[in-house]
Amino acid sequence: MEDCIFCKIIKGELATELLYEDDQLVAFRDIDPQAPVHILLVTKEHIPTILDIEERKQGLIGHIYRVAAKLARENNIAETGYRLVSNCNKEGGQTVFHIHFHLLGGRSMQWPPG
Ligand code: AMP
Repeated sequence: MEDCIFCKIIKGELATELLYEDDQLVAFRDIDPQAPVHILLVTKEHIPTILDIEERKQGLIGHIYRVAAKLARENNIAETGYRLVSNCNKEGGQTVFHIHFHLLGGRSMQWPPG
């Protein structure tokens, strides 16, 4: 997708340090961190929202959770705790329409979120 900022990062058109990469995902730090650790896990395929995940792609979600746990351990937030969240559509707070999960940690999280 030509205008998608995350597609540009995945294609290497926007210099961004990748913390993780495999055939399905990349991970990099959020440009506007909401916690001491704020990493985005982004699917390589341009899928606009989590509503668009087809049945054949369900394994992708489990994979995202496993990679998030690995990154949480590497960033020393696994034991203290973290939040893994994906915003969907306008009222869910989604601003980039390419599936991603926010891995947040390093501070106490509020519930319910604002
Ligand atoms: P959401 O609002 O859930 O769609 O999350 C989009 C996230 O992408 C926001 O937290 C932004 O700060 C982040 N973001 C936007 N552009 C960039 C970028 N170039 N590099 C890293 N993070 C970005």
